Amino acid sequence: MPPRDAPPVTALAVVATTGEVLDHPALHEGLLAPWERRRLDRIRVPSRRDDVIAARLLVRLCVARFTGLPPEASGPDQYCDDCRRYGHGRPYLSRRPELGVSLSHADGLVAAAVGPGPVGVDVEPAARRPGPLPVLRRLLPGAELREAAAGPDPDAALLRLWVRGEARFKAGAQEGLRLLDWADRERAAVAAVAAGGPVAVIACGDPVSGRPG
Ligand SMILES: [Zn+2]
Repeated sequence: MPPRDAPPVTALAVVATTGEVLDHPALHEGLLAPWERRRLDRIRVPSRRDDVIAARLLVRLCVARFTGLPPEASGPDQYCDDCRRYGHGRPYLSRRPELGVSLSHADGLVAAAVGPGPVGVDVEPAARRPGPLPVLRRLLPGAELREAAAGPDPDAALLRLWVRGEARFKAGAQEGLRLLDWADRERAAVAAVAAGGPVAVIACGDPVSGRPG
């Protein structure tokens, strides 16, 4: 048995509505870093701005649960390998660079994940129709795509493939990733996580800090 205070090796993922996160008593916009708030100032659509705030808060909840760090110390930084600039691109935790972290938002839904290695998460409204097919063909494996398109519910199957593909891409699309996807019927969401090991799906309403700091 590992020591009681050893970090869990199981990655954590969480899906919520933007409203649930913004109503969470322990999460508020004041937790965001100045660079994150500057980025928010450039978002003109209020609902999209809320989604981005909620995703950035939810990732703090997830990281706080995983690491025992307080939410104010659990925010992700971002670095873009293409532009070699900070503030966008791949998220990472400067205090725990060995961990993987990922976030996603789409039309009132948000998701976050953290794990002991590369991790990727994606959430989409269950009613969304990915496509068109020629675009999907470029992005998704042909055999899986044909199978999904030929099945009894091609729209749902293609959306599932899509969120899996996005999660895998965000985790770096490397070998050995395990993919977990699920339908969150209460929130009319479909989500997927890619991680190197097991994943536990936690609830947004759980306490922010799962382990004493
Ligand atoms: Zn860039």
